[in-house]
Amino acid sequence: MGLRTYKAKRDFRRTSEPKGGKPKPKGVKGASRFVIQKHDASRLHYDFRLEMKGVLKSWAVPKGLPWAQGEKHLAVEVEDHPIEYATFEGVIPEGQYGGGTVMVWDRGRYYVYGEQPLKSLHEGKLHLVLDGEKAKGEWTLVRIRSNEAKNQWLILKTRSGSKPPSKKLDDESVKTGRTMKQIAEQRDAERQSNREDESPTRGFRARIRAAIAANGRSNKKKTPARRKTKGRARSPSAPTN
Ligand code: MN
Repeated sequence: MGLRTYKAKRDFRRTSEPKGGKPKPKGVKGASRFVIQKHDASRLHYDFRLEMKGVLKSWAVPKGLPWAQGEKHLAVEVEDHPIEYATFEGVIPEGQYGGGTVMVWDRGRYYVYGEQPLKSLHEGKLHLVLDGEKAKGEWTLVRIRSNEAKNQWLILKTRSGSKPPSKKLDDESVKTGRTMKQIAEQRDAERQSNREDESPTRGFRARIRAAIAANGRSNKKKTPARRKTKGRARSPSAPTN
């Protein structure tokens, strides 16, 4: 899939989500990283992402992971995301694609049973072992054959049930420990402090301008001849060819 769809959907002048360069080539053998992001967009959902072939293969899971053995939840395959997205937490501006708060809800390593992950992905069946901070155990992703065009999959809790996170943990970032509310609020605070950060710069520039002006005035008063020197000094920097 590559990152073309990902890039086409976003205006990187407006969102702080990673741009993503070229997919980073990486082997698919052994364990790779996974991340689950809680995303409070127009509808709250969880984004399940597996690092594979230099990108993050991604599914939007409206109900999040199932925890009871045999339970299954819908997982809609969405565009590949850049690897750097795995650590993205913050707020996508309103009106932008996926506008809303994003939390790094869980992360860790995953393993795929049997075949190579990519082969299994193409075949539409990934038998996964997740070793995350919240999600530990086995899940299976299965593509719904009749709905291939809709990119619909099911994520099933296989082998045995796993302990679901507590309500408190469900609203806690594994990256920063923040709640969804705190992420949203702190973005506003960051914006505020960014605005405040600008003022020392403005102050600095103003001081320089004042110093230059004062210097100019003192030059005028004390040594009017230096203005000529200044004028001459300026000429070498002018283009000579
Ligand atoms: Mn999402």
